[in-house]
Amino acid sequence: MQLEGTVFDRAKALFLHYAEPLQLDAKYPGMALPQRLTIPDKSITVRLTLQKDNGTVEVFDAYRVQFNDDLGPYKGGLRFHPQVSLDEVKALAFWMYLKTAVVSIPFGGAKGGIAVDYKALSLAEKERLTKKFAIVLANDIGADTDIPAPDVNTGPREMAWMSHAWRMARGKYERAMITGKPLDNGGSLGRTEATGYGCAITLLEAARDKGVDPNGARYAVQGFGNAGQYAALEMSRHGSRLIAVCDSRAAIGNPEGLDVEALIRHKEQTGCVADFPGSKPIDPPEVLTADCEFLIPAALEDAITKEISPDVKAKVISEAANGPMTQEAMEILFKKGTVVVPDILANAGGVTVSYFEWVQNRQEYYWTHEVVMERLTKRLVDSYRRIYERAQAEKTSLRQAAYEGAIERVVRIALERGTQ
Ligand code: NAD
Repeated sequence: MQLEGTVFDRAKALFLHYAEPLQLDAKYPGMALPQRLTIPDKSITVRLTLQKDNGTVEVFDAYRVQFNDDLGPYKGGLRFHPQVSLDEVKALAFWMYLKTAVVSIPFGGAKGGIAVDYKALSLAEKERLTKKFAIVLANDIGADTDIPAPDVNTGPREMAWMSHAWRMARGKYERAMITGKPLDNGGSLGRTEATGYGCAITLLEAARDKGVDPNGARYAVQGFGNAGQYAALEMSRHGSRLIAVCDSRAAIGNPEGLDVEALIRHKEQTGCVADFPGSKPIDPPEVLTADCEFLIPAALEDAITKEISPDVKAKVISEAANGPMTQEAMEILFKKGTVVVPDILANAGGVTVSYFEWVQNRQEYYWTHEVVMERLTKRLVDSYRRIYERAQAEKTSLRQAAYEGAIERVVRIALERGTQ
């Protein structure tokens, strides 16, 4: 398996590695399936100019990768972060393509982003840049073509801005052209908490299978944004104790446990987890190696490396983030017996409720919170159980089993569509 190269090279190598037992070339000779499934349909690169509040102009690179729409309209989040590159967006779009197959959602995979230090912009600059992106992409996105959603540094506010700018550019209402919107703008109840909640729900299933009681168990969270915060809230509801956490600026710990709701308020007020009353500062890598039962990486790619994985003590890891561990780390952890709920299942709660939001928008008929959460829980638990049973039967990892199931589905649909 290829361990070097860019994040997309490695995502592709991992896919081909997991596809090996399925013998695609031998079973379907001359169908070029490995290429058809691993090359994006379309990669859009645009230049965005932004007039700053002081009158000067800045230029940013922005991307939208539409990976594959065999399963339905392209679907995937928007990331506004200085590290965003075409290569990273391609990898994230590829994972979206597999994720929708894992949870049986009728969408293809896409992803987008702007390479920008978004947090450093003023509110007015943020709005101008976000709306500019929507206008530039106006003909590429839409309810039946490509449906964006939130990712790192974007949320309901940005989705409402995008939706409004798209409406001005296209001259029509189409609420389902974007998901993760605020409730009054056609959002769905449950969307905000869906990713973190889903990560916790799948972690709890895996913990039960591993024989670890969540009540009283300790856990650590790397990255305390949307996904990390809601995963922590759900874990704490099941009696688990958050003992270490970090964001991009600081890391803190307390072996007795941190009050998650109070920490979320503290982060909202101060913008950081640092100086939370009752906590001590720790080194950020200690969050990943904390003495605990569960670990939730909820920040960016490649956080858990081959260097750090021998020191990871958690028995169960649930990947809220996309691609948070390197291939070498996956192998080390698998050999150690650590159960890893893979990202394409663990963080699929977000796209699942995005799908529910799209359905509700198209019907203009809105579900209660209870209905959304019940349908989300059932879909994630059913998907987890299917993957767990396959992993048990084949004596393999949850990731291998999840990939095999997803690949079988995308292959079936690609072949049914013919060869042109
Ligand atoms: P977010 O912007 O709300 O939060 C990201 C958090 O990570 C912030 O607390 C930030 O400070 C922290 N962070 C960034 N770099 C870090 C570093 N080097 N070390 C420690 N912390 C760091 O973003 P989010 O929506 O919570 O996304 C987090 C991850 O979850 C991403 O990988 C994203 O792709 C994935 N994800 C999010 C959703 C969603 O619906 N929001 C859905 C699926 C997957």
